[in-house]
Amino acid sequence: MTVEDSVIVEDASKTRVIAIDGPAGSGKSTVARALADRLGLPYLDTGAMYRSVAFAVLRAAGDPDDLEFAANAARSIELDMSDGRVVVNGVDATLPIRSPDVTRAVSAVAANPLVRRELVSRQREWVERRGGGVLEGRDIGTAVFPNAQLKVYLTADVQVRAQRRARELTELDLQAVAAELTRRDTVDSNREADPLVEAHDAVIVDTTALAIDEVVNHIVALLPSDIVDRG
Ligand code: C5P
Repeated sequence: MTVEDSVIVEDASKTRVIAIDGPAGSGKSTVARALADRLGLPYLDTGAMYRSVAFAVLRAAGDPDDLEFAANAARSIELDMSDGRVVVNGVDATLPIRSPDVTRAVSAVAANPLVRRELVSRQREWVERRGGGVLEGRDIGTAVFPNAQLKVYLTADVQVRAQRRARELTELDLQAVAAELTRRDTVDSNREADPLVEAHDAVIVDTTALAIDEVVNHIVALLPSDIVDRG
């Protein structure tokens, strides 16, 4: 779908959700947060939920590839993501969920259909309680909210994505980050359960050469006026 034919009309059958999907480092978090701020909508980082389950598995000395172990960790996890922090089973895991260990383990945990079932159901509940929101992830527009009001798929050149991530994680070198991103993209795109794929009705935005504000303005321009005005 191109930007030109993607003008969104108000449609009561759509959920009041803006889905921001795309691979690692495509700018999802920064864009989704800025968009939610601009519109006064709540924001949910679903990647942080998968990372939290991976963190809980590793902390319990479990194997991320063990389907039942990870599924139990997902079902029993107490997750508090209010206040910009991520508290997992009472432990502040805001920084640890971004560690290289968790980043390595998360794609196996996220490929587990039992883990996905649990987290997708929590994501739907989260929206139901709030009446809508901006959600970022890999499968928001395809699996979690196929009826989302607007679906955006962000992409960017892998070298640029690696540079963005390397700036956040200064202890890692660029080539290592690029290799890890590519590995994660491959697993995320080729798994059977809700793979990373562009929804057929998503607007694709290549953020390689765009500033955050440009991406956000572009997305706001695609929204129906009731969402922009109520924000
Ligand atoms: O967004 P972030 O890179 O933090 O996500 C971490 C991992 O969580 C991804 O590589 C992917 O395996 C998984 N994920 C997912 N579905 C989502 C969000 C994230 O499978 N909706």
